[in-house]
Amino acid sequence: MLERAITYSHTLLRQTVKTGDIVIDATVGKGNDTLFLASLVGQTGHIHGFDVQEEAIAITKEKFLQAGVLEQVSLHHIGHEQAHTFLEPDCELGAVIYNLGYLPGSDKRITTMRESTLTSIDTLLPRLRVGGLMLLVVYSGHMQGKDEKEGVLDYVMTLDQNAYSVLQYGFINQKNNPPFLLAIEKRKHVQTS
Ligand code: SAM
Repeated sequence: MLERAITYSHTLLRQTVKTGDIVIDATVGKGNDTLFLASLVGQTGHIHGFDVQEEAIAITKEKFLQAGVLEQVSLHHIGHEQAHTFLEPDCELGAVIYNLGYLPGSDKRITTMRESTLTSIDTLLPRLRVGGLMLLVVYSGHMQGKDEKEGVLDYVMTLDQNAYSVLQYGFINQKNNPPFLLAIEKRKHVQTS
C-alpha cells in the first residue's frame, strides 16, 4: 500500500532519528508527532515542541505526563520562527517536523503562515546534522495554505543540491488538494557568511 503523506513522514523519521537525538516538532497541535518522536529519541534524547496555541501545549503536556515521558520534552508556547533561539550553539538536530495549516477541530484562523514558516525553515535548516531530515506536511486547501505552499516550494526548490536533497511526495490524482510531504535531507554542512 502507498503510504499517505503523514504516515510516510513517520516512516522517514523512523529511518533517520536515533536514540539520543535532539529533534524539533515545529507544530505541536495535539502532540501526535511529538509523542512519536519521543519513542524514537528515547530517554537520552530530547524534543523541543512549538505551538502558538496554549491549548495545544496543554493537551500535549498531558499526553506526555500520561505516557510518563515528560522529561523528554520542552514545550514552548511560542511561534516556530523563534525555535532556533532555544537551541544551544553547538546543538545539531536529527530532525525537524512541521504539520502546516490549522489544528482540526480548533480555530481555523490560527494557521501557519508563509513568512513565519519560511523564517523558521531558513533558521533551522543550518542546524540539522549531516543525514538529518526536515519534513513538512503541506496542506493547501485553505486560503493561507495556497500562499504558504507556493512560498515553501519556491524556497526549497532553490536549495543547493550539494548541501540538501529535496523530495516531494504526494498523490497527484486526488481531488481537494490532498496534503503532500516535502523531505529535506542535509547532505553536507554549508558555510554561512
Ligand atoms: N502535528 C499536529 C498534531 O499531531 O496534532 C497537528 C498540527 S496542526 C496541522 C498545525 C499547528 O500549528 C496548530 O496547532 C497551530 O496552532 C500551529 N501553529 C500555527 N502557527 C504556528 C507558528 N508560527 N509556530 C508554531 N505553531 C504554529
